[in-house]
Order: sequence, then C-alpha cells, then structure tokens
Amino acid sequence: SERAAEVLGLIRDVPDYPQPGVTFRDITGLLADGRALGDVVDSLAAFAAGGVDLVAGLEARGFLIGAPLATRLGVGFLPLRKAGKLPPPTETVTYDLEYGTASIELRTGTLQQGARVLIVDDVLATGGTAAAGVELVERCGGVVVGVAFLLELDGLGGRSRLAGHQVDTLLRVE
Ligand code: 5GP
Repeated sequence: SERAAEVLGLIRDVPDYPQPGVTFRDITGLLADGRALGDVVDSLAAFAAGGVDLVAGLEARGFLIGAPLATRLGVGFLPLRKAGKLPPPTETVTYDLEYGTASIELRTGTLQQGARVLIVDDVLATGGTAAAGVELVERCGGVVVGVAFLLELDGLGGRSRLAGHQVDTLLRVE
C-alpha cells in the first residue's frame, strides 16, 4: 500500500555496514516518527488475531517494537536476551553466526507451560536469530503461535529457517 511505501521510506539503507558488501537497514528514523511507529505497532497487532498470551522480543530492536506491541495487545512481554545479561537461573540457546556463535537466554520460570507466544524482531535476515528464539521459547514450555517482523530481507532464506511456524512481515525488500 501507499502507507507501507511511506513507512518503508523511513528505513535508511546503509551500504557496507557493518562490513563491506552488507547493506544495513537502519530503522531509527522510523522509530523517531510517531505516526509511523504507531502504524507499525497497530499493523503488527493484526498478526496476533488468533490470540496470544505473551509477546517475546529479541534483543535489542525486538524490544523496541515488542514492548509497545504487548501493551497494545494487553499482554506481558518477555525479553529474549543476549548471553550474560540475565541473572540465573536461565535457559540458553546457542546458534551459529556467519563468524562464530551467539547465545540468547530467557529467565527460567517466566513462561507458563502452554503459554501462547508471539515472537517479534525488527528484521528477518537469515533467520538464525529468530529460529533460536523459537527454540528457546519452546524449550521453556511456550507454544510459538507466530513470528512477526517489521522488515523481511528476501532471498536470505530466513523464512525457510522458520518452516512450520506462522511467519508474518509488514514490509519486504530484496
Ligand atoms: P538473522 O539472524 O535473521 O540473520 O539476523 C537478524 C537479526 O540481526 C535481528 O535481530 C536483526 O535485528 C539483526 N539484523 C540483521 N540485519 C539487519 C539489518 O539490516 N537491519 C537491522 N536493523 N537489523 C538487522
């Protein structure tokens, strides 16, 4: 839609960042635009139409849209944190990056068995981060009812990494 194109226009392409050959999509301009931020949160809320008990956001930009989304839906928010930030006890999932590995953690006991969880992040690229989020939530007893993103980078195979789950994205670019 026209509005989607306007919102997409607030996302800045930064060539060769954080390394040569990579184009980084910078969402800070979108976050700073009150109407766009509100529209994004409203649109993401439609992805929870089937009912959710919690929104889980991936650190760090998944927090920025996940927490207002949770408030909008009237449910709580779960931070899926980078390793080493949360006091114990935690559950940890380690996943592969292009160079090396990363881990995300969730506080043990914050999730009720069978809770319906919508996982949120800003950008779906290769899908490794979101797939780790799914594994972490499921390991802690949650049921992942969907994985939602502001922006999907097509052609990196992210969607296939999340096969078997409902994946919804507001905007897509090549
Ligand atoms: P993936 O694991 O899908 O390859 O990468 C997704 C993760 O890296 C997300 O947490 C996302 O915030 C971050 N990310 C990867 N590429 C970009 C990008 O171009 N822009 C932004 N804002 N985040 C990105």
